[in-house]
Amino acid sequence: MTVTVPKDEDGDPYDVIGNGELTKEEDKGDRVTRHWRSKEPMASYLANVTVGYFEIANVRTGDGLPVYLAVDPDESEAAEGLRDLVPQVIAWASKRFGPYPFSSTGAIVDHLPDLDYALETQTKPYFDSAPDAKLLVHELAHQWFGNSVTPRAWKDMWLNEGFANYAEWLWEVDHGGKTAQETFASYYDGTHPESEGIWNFAPADPPSVAHVSDPPVYGHGAMVAHKSARRSGTRHSSTSCGPGPSSTATRMPTHSSSSRCARGSPERTCPRSSTAGSSKRRSPPASEWLLLFRT
Ligand SMILES: [Zn+2]
Repeated sequence: MTVTVPKDEDGDPYDVIGNGELTKEEDKGDRVTRHWRSKEPMASYLANVTVGYFEIANVRTGDGLPVYLAVDPDESEAAEGLRDLVPQVIAWASKRFGPYPFSSTGAIVDHLPDLDYALETQTKPYFDSAPDAKLLVHELAHQWFGNSVTPRAWKDMWLNEGFANYAEWLWEVDHGGKTAQETFASYYDGTHPESEGIWNFAPADPPSVAHVSDPPVYGHGAMVAHKSARRSGTRHSSTSCGPGPSSTATRMPTHSSSSRCARGSPERTCPRSSTAGSSKRRSPPASEWLLLFRT
């Protein structure tokens, strides 16, 4: 994406943040042009251009993945921990879910508390204020669940949100919190603060587009992910990240193999695993995530 913005009255350019990596900066007198490039396929709802004044930090994960952080100065103090936390979450999620699917990561922390939402915009989630660890885990988990593999229809939104919510449960498991089964039980019996309304409809059957972000899609979706992971023989201790002895599926698709599914039309078909024990790593359609989800 190529974006041209004016300089302000002091002659300073506004910051322009897009998806992927910043590849070129041009000064054109009273304007500047910034070029951002995302190497991997991207669904249109994940595109983001943010323009304003930000504190920019470029760091790297332990594996050398570029991390681009853009923080509104009003959130500077609250977002101070992100330099360490983003690499930590990426390292943790890569162990849990497989290799990170994009060529960079990061976060955009704005100061718009009235906006009241965050979005998993590709490579750099957008936050209306400094996120806590739980929200950061949720949006970064979407890079695997929702961004690398995107549903073909909005009614399948639970494949995004159920798994991103389930990632929050697993983060808690690995950081001294409740077990996933305890969290499941608190949703089931209604004692979890986010459990209200989760039984209103089946996660994959929202009655209309107005309901694709309702509690069943998130909370009940996470419960399905948990039950499916248990049924497929996975465990939830922090020592069980690797494939167990009976594990047959290997990992989530890499960005190169998932690209065919990521923007699939209803007519387009993704290769399906004919046998669970196949040694070939092929890109699964979203409907097969449950079979492949490994914790
Ligand atoms: Zn989400």
